[in-house]
This record gives sequence, C-alpha cells and structure tokens, in this order.
Amino acid sequence: ENLPIRRALLSVSDKSGLIEFARALAGMGVELLSTGGTASALRAEGLAVKDVSEVTGFPEMLDGRVKTLHPMVHGGLLAIRGDASHDAQVAEHGIAPIDLLVVNLYPFEATVAMGADFDDCIENIDIGGPALIRGAAKNHAGVTVVIEPDDYAAVLDAMRANKGATTPELRRQLAAKAYARTAAYDAAISNWFAGVLGEETPAYRTVGGRLRSPLRYGENPHQHAAFYATGEARPGVANAVQHQGKELSYNNLNDTDAAFELVAELGVERPAVAIIKHANPSGVACGESLVDAYRKALRCDPVSAFGGIVALNGTLDAEAAEEIVKVFTEVVIAPRVTEEAAAIFAAKKNLRLLTTGGLPDPAAAGITVRSLAGGLLVQSRDSGVIRASDLKVVTKRAPTAEELADLLFAFRVAKHVKSNAIVYARDGATVGIGAGQMSRVDSTRIAAQKSADAAAAIGASEPLTRGSVVASDAFFPFADGLLTAAEAGATAVIQPGGSMRDDEVIAAADEKGLAMVFTGVRHFRH
Ligand code: 5GP
Repeated sequence: ENLPIRRALLSVSDKSGLIEFARALAGMGVELLSTGGTASALRAEGLAVKDVSEVTGFPEMLDGRVKTLHPMVHGGLLAIRGDASHDAQVAEHGIAPIDLLVVNLYPFEATVAMGADFDDCIENIDIGGPALIRGAAKNHAGVTVVIEPDDYAAVLDAMRANKGATTPELRRQLAAKAYARTAAYDAAISNWFAGVLGEETPAYRTVGGRLRSPLRYGENPHQHAAFYATGEARPGVANAVQHQGKELSYNNLNDTDAAFELVAELGVERPAVAIIKHANPSGVACGESLVDAYRKALRCDPVSAFGGIVALNGTLDAEAAEEIVKVFTEVVIAPRVTEEAAAIFAAKKNLRLLTTGGLPDPAAAGITVRSLAGGLLVQSRDSGVIRASDLKVVTKRAPTAEELADLLFAFRVAKHVKSNAIVYARDGATVGIGAGQMSRVDSTRIAAQKSADAAAAIGASEPLTRGSVVASDAFFPFADGLLTAAEAGATAVIQPGGSMRDDEVIAAADEKGLAMVFTGVRHFRH
C-alpha cells in the first residue's frame, strides 16, 4: 500500500542535491534525522535536523566507524509496520519508525581511483551505511531507501502524487537498486584487496559492476541488455566521454572495446589505427601520421570497413577526420580530439565520437569474464606482450630488420583476432587477416584470398601478401598452413611453436627459404 513518509534519516557522503531534497521533504512535513557531516550541511542551510546521536544516546565514535549502528536506528528501519508484536516491541523501547532512508556510501571506489594509500582505502570502507541500506531494503514493505541523488526526484514526484506517500512499486525498485549498490560496493572492496595481494587473483575477486546504463537491446533486438562498469580505472569504452552521435548499442560497445584495446597494443611510438567489424579487425596499420595509418588500414579490406569502428592511438586530427568521414563509420574512439577534427565530425550527426584521455597499458593486470550456462569464467587478462628479445629464431635464415618489425606488429595484431587467427603484414600494416576459422589452414587461405581481393579492388598488379610476413596466434599443427602462407608470398613467420610436428614445420620453412621465429607465448582469443 502507499505509505506516508513522516521521518527520514539522511546520511550521505555525496552531498549533491541534498539541500534541495531535504528542503522539499521538510516542506512536506517530514522530520529529518542526520549524522554529523550531513546534519551540519543541512543546518548551515537553515534546516531543522535531529542528530542521530540524540536518538541513540551515544556520540558518534571511533572516528566515525560507529555512528548509526544502534537498535534505536536499526529498530526504526527493520520493524514490520502493522505487526502487533513488532509494534509492541518498538513502543516498549521508545523506538521511532524511520520511513525514508537516504544514504550514499563513503566513496571507496573514488578513493582507490585517486591512488590513495592502503590505510586511506581501508578507512573509506563504509560499515554503518551498508547496514542501513540493507536493513531498509529488506523492510521495503514499509521503508523507502535511496542510495544516490539521481533518485531524489522520483521520490519527491511519488510523494507529491500520493499525498506524501510512496508506492510499493517504487519501494521495490529502490530496494533492488539498493542491494545492487551494496553488492557492487563489496565487490569493489574485494577486488581492490585482490589487487593489493599483488597478483592477478581471479579466485579472490568478486565479479560484479555498477549499472552504467540500460541498453536498448542486446546483440539482437529481442534480447534485453545493460552496461555495467566495474570501476577499473582503465582508459577505454567504460570510462570514455561521448561527444556526439546516438546512444552506443551493445554491439558498438563490444566492437569499440576490441578496437581500442587493439590499437593500445601497438603502443605510442608510431601513429596507429585499427578498423573493427564484429570484434575482429578488418585492417590495422601504423603510419607516418594517423591519416596515413588509416589509409593503410583501410586498404587491407576496404569492403569490410563499411559500417566499422575506428580506433586511433593518438589525438584525432583534421586530416584523419576528413578521411574517416568518407567511409560510413559507426564509432570513432581516440585518446583525444582536436577542435578542427571535432568540427568535421559534427557534420556527421550519426557518427559517435569517444575520447578516453589516454591509452590503456596492454601489459597491465586485470580480469576478463564471460558467461556459460549456469556459470562465469574468469581469467586474468591476456597481458602478454612479446618483444624482439623474447623471440627464438628456428630456421636457417634469421628475419631481416624489416621482417622483424613486421613480425612483432603482426603478432600483436593476431592477439586481438579471434582464433584461429592468421595475420599477414607488410610495412607496418596488415595486408590479410583470417579470423575465427575452425582450422588454421582455412584462416591462412581466407586471409590470402581476401588480400588478393583487396589488391584487385585497388588495381594492384600482385597480391598484397607478396613479400609480407605472417603471424599465427597459436602453433601450426601441420606444415600445410605455413606452405599456404609461403605460396601467398610470405617471407617470414612468427608463431608460438610447441607443436608435436614443429620439426616438420621448421623443415618446410627452411625448404621455402622462410625465416621463422617462435614466441613461446600463445594468444588464443575464442
Ligand atoms: P556524515 O557526513 O553525515 O558525517 O557521514 C555520512 C556517511 O556516514 C555516509 O556515507 C554513511 O554511509 C556513513 N555512515 C552512517 N552510519 C555509519 C556508521 O555507523 N559507520 C560508518 N563507518 N559509516 C556510517
């Protein structure tokens, strides 16, 4: 039933919107109770407030660790309204019911994100706040619980429409949200602890996040979807600013993440661009400038780039923007954008532009999560980054300096291509990408075929794979894939090695005069 709000307890760390809300409540005759800082803020604006310490008969103590943890408070939240026994007990102890709880927690996540030290983080773990929230939410049949300023308006609207009362539907919605908040809060704490342990420790982590936004639909229109932020301070889609264009869809978010993580993998030494379709790159390149890199990335597969997502590793400038708008593109993501480039994009209303302020460190620890029926699979992020010093030359011929640079580039790209992944590259640009095939030799063939198509489209006299290098995300189980790559014109190979038939594969490479290096590290991406 609709229940009138007569008494409210306000205890908030984030005091935005507090005064207006409290004033509106007071205007509707609601009595206000409050903890120290919140009470001072309200009094400073001339509002009448009763201190919680007056209700409990205890001062706030232990540096604020104990403020509201008292039966006079929790009894007022948890007593079942209209239950004869509960009514009698609260009457006996002089406990006054609390109808509205307004709490937002100590800013634990923000404290961690600021890089605070261990003790500071510990002190920012709210104890009484979650207890209040969980109690009020349990008793939502009688109590309205609000955990963030965003919901102040909804409560006031309901009260205005219902003679100072809230509806059961609103109380349930707010209760569900309240538990989502306390769950996410504890998840943030346990994840911070796991990080403090210094290792990538999925087993000590809690998988969860905070609702960032509901999405219009999921991978397909008949699927419901929402976007959750985990609080990890990694530059990327979840922390990006959107400058223009309509709301990002589920698929946009997924693809934009793939694009930005890939371009970050290439570092900042040279301008780099990745174009993504369906979470796989259609082209990736480094260049003299971003526009040069974009043109080279586009050349790899100009057909697939239509409707793609473009990620850049540097400040999006006017030259690159002019070139990008020539192709229908869904999303562009970059660390920053110049005013000129933003003005060029402004004419393309549907193009979404995101900036992140920086690039994520590809070698940084972190976790990834995916679901399966009835469970979640959690693992540390693939933070393996292969450098020249990690490579072992296994063929008679060692790669030339140019081949070596392209081999490292191709292997970094292959890490971001769905397995079985084959990437041909030349002069710092992909020239053929084979993704997601069930057999490695098929990926090798498809990549070469796509490259031949791309060459035909630009009227090149020979396939772009001629004189290229080739990367494989996992070992070649047989020589056939390597021979296909040699036929397509590859001159050098990078792969993890470790197959039972490595000897056969090495012999085939030697016979074709190829240089081949082993990384010892595999980059499956399924
Ligand atoms: P204030 O600024 O009013 O002094 O404190 C507000 C904060 O105190 C809120 O974030 C609330 O969650 C938190 N809080 C309320 N009661 C307790 C308690 O008993 N222990 C702790 N540690 N925090 C509390």
